[in-house]
Amino acid sequence: MSAPFKLAPLPWDDDALAPTISAHTISFHYHKHHKAYVDMLNTLVEGTPYADMKLEEIVHKTAGATDPKDKKIFNNAGQVWNHDFYWRSLTPAKTEGDATLDSAITAAFGSKDALIAKLAEAGKDQFGSGWAWLVSKDGKLSIDKTSNAETPMAKGVNCLLTVDVWEHAYYLDYQNARPKYLEAVLGKIINWEFAAQNLARENNPVRAAAE
Ligand code: MN
Repeated sequence: MSAPFKLAPLPWDDDALAPTISAHTISFHYHKHHKAYVDMLNTLVEGTPYADMKLEEIVHKTAGATDPKDKKIFNNAGQVWNHDFYWRSLTPAKTEGDATLDSAITAAFGSKDALIAKLAEAGKDQFGSGWAWLVSKDGKLSIDKTSNAETPMAKGVNCLLTVDVWEHAYYLDYQNARPKYLEAVLGKIINWEFAAQNLARENNPVRAAAE
């Protein structure tokens, strides 16, 4: 089996986000759930034209698919992309955005605290499994939420950061208290530098195309 897709390494050690997200959660969420999506994607694309495509291309091509095989490929490809993006949205380091991100936050939400409150609300309101997102369009920020493996990226929307609100993301550390998980993650371990880089990429499409 060719296995074109790899489990991307985490940008920090397994225990680096504790106590907000424990190494125990990472041992299941990254080493089992995320890995299972990668393994399943490799199995599903074997011998198909998808085996030669980039992950983003597969997500674009299979988004909204009704064919059960393509839908299954979308679910696994979307989850691989979303998880890669989620891990990079988190950091144990104290990070700051930049002037462009800060002024976009002020313009859209009034303050960073107001943005965090809106993201937490989106995560709480997402019924069942899914994701809460900070996204940008033409430099203007907004909040989005998606179900299951859905991702704003599939609609050509520029993603700045995401929080996973599937139960597997928080149950070991917070049991059913999704709001407590959201409050801790959004207050303590968001990588604002990553969000600023993603906003800069939208503002500089030439660089985006080269990446
Ligand atoms: Mn997850």
